[in-house]
Amino acid sequence: MSLKKWTETKDTLSFRLAVLYAGIFALTSLLAFSIFYYRIHSLTMGQVDEELLEEVGEFSQVHIGEGIKGVREEMAQEVQEEAPDQIFFRLFSEDGKLLASTDMTPWGELPVSSADIMSASMGDPVIKTVKILSRGHHARVIHAAIGPELILQFGMVLEDVEDYLAAFRNLFIILFVAVFVLSILIGGFMGRKALSDVGKVTNTAREISKGAHDRRVDVSRQYREIRELGETFNSMLDEIQVLIRGMKELNDNVAHDLRSPLTRIRGAAERAIMKDTSSQDFREMAAGIIEESDGLIEIINTMLDITESEVGVMEISRTEFDVTRLAADACEIYRPLADEKGVTLRMEIQGSLMFTGDRKKLQRVLANLLENAIKYSDPGGEVTLSASLDGGMFRFDVRDNGIGIPEGDRPHIFDRFYRSEESRFEAGAGLGLSLAKAFTEAMGGAITVVSTPGSGSVFTVVLPR
Ligand code: ADP
Repeated sequence: MSLKKWTETKDTLSFRLAVLYAGIFALTSLLAFSIFYYRIHSLTMGQVDEELLEEVGEFSQVHIGEGIKGVREEMAQEVQEEAPDQIFFRLFSEDGKLLASTDMTPWGELPVSSADIMSASMGDPVIKTVKILSRGHHARVIHAAIGPELILQFGMVLEDVEDYLAAFRNLFIILFVAVFVLSILIGGFMGRKALSDVGKVTNTAREISKGAHDRRVDVSRQYREIRELGETFNSMLDEIQVLIRGMKELNDNVAHDLRSPLTRIRGAAERAIMKDTSSQDFREMAAGIIEESDGLIEIINTMLDITESEVGVMEISRTEFDVTRLAADACEIYRPLADEKGVTLRMEIQGSLMFTGDRKKLQRVLANLLENAIKYSDPGGEVTLSASLDGGMFRFDVRDNGIGIPEGDRPHIFDRFYRSEESRFEAGAGLGLSLAKAFTEAMGGAITVVSTPGSGSVFTVVLPR
């Protein structure tokens, strides 16, 4: 594996998972083996020690029955039965003098500890494991008193026990290595399998970044976590696509709405150049251009206001004022327009309602709703502005019995530049409701509409007190 490939592999989550998996496995199996091994070791040694103590008991009996001579004979006989390299006996006096010994050739130099003899003579048998230097094995050795001032040293090679434990250790090492390698492979496989679905998400993202905007992650037949990731990713893409589409439409609408007045301005100027124009014509043309420019400036200012309040940078002032007064002023402003159209404009507010908030913004919201209500009413229609306290909120209703809004248009009327087919004959840029919504929401409120085509609409603004 090249260095680059290794660095890439080393950084993958599946590799890390495999290593972690194998590491945890190695640690737990080592721990389990150690406990198991320690237990087996102490059980085996316990058995050996029992044998040693039994033997000492037997020798005590021999000494009682047959004296030191009998002990010597028994020592020789047992070594002969077992083989001199398997067991040995030595007999000491209390002061450490060697009284008798079996063949010690296979055992090499085995030091005699006067402390052990002393402890044994006081009735405390001492059992120890000592190394047999010449044989690479250990022996278990007991020092115990078998009679007054008579200490027996009895040793037994641990070859069988050690071979048994070594075989056990070797078996564990082989098993450990095999299962460790297997656990790395299984961990790697499982990690890769689990993360292969993440790869699908990555591939989809890659394809989308290359232009396939309609691609989505296939979320069928996947584990729950990955499915949730895929679903979230897909819904995020849908959201982005809606936003992109909205921006595109907005661009188209802005371009469209700016193009018509600009074309008119250009046409007027062109006509003024082409024909013999009197100063009166020039004045009229300038007045027309000013009017068109005002319309354009208003569109641009409204757009800026909407954006500012949508992104939350617009300042919201808080002053206390009488809502009845504000509503009455708004009705006064729109009464000429209503009269001109033959629409009755009414206000329904009882007493004076004090409100703390942004007066100017509320005024613009109500103005836009009133203007629409009048605009989209037929002569003889009726528009009512009412205000009331609804729970802890202020509620404003602008009701008309005009043309109403078709169901298909209702989800879009608050979008910038949206105008329904029926409203094309009326003046407007399609920004009034967007502004009303942006301002209402910036003030912490909400705006809703209930409408029946042919019967009229009710726009409701709810604001916190
Ligand atoms: P504009 O009035 O300039 O077209 P608005 O944003 O104020 O833009 O309104 C968007 C659209 O919502 C209008 O074009 C119209 O179709 C619809 N609308 C708004 N208010 C009413 C109403 N009171 N009655 C019927 N339709 C309405």
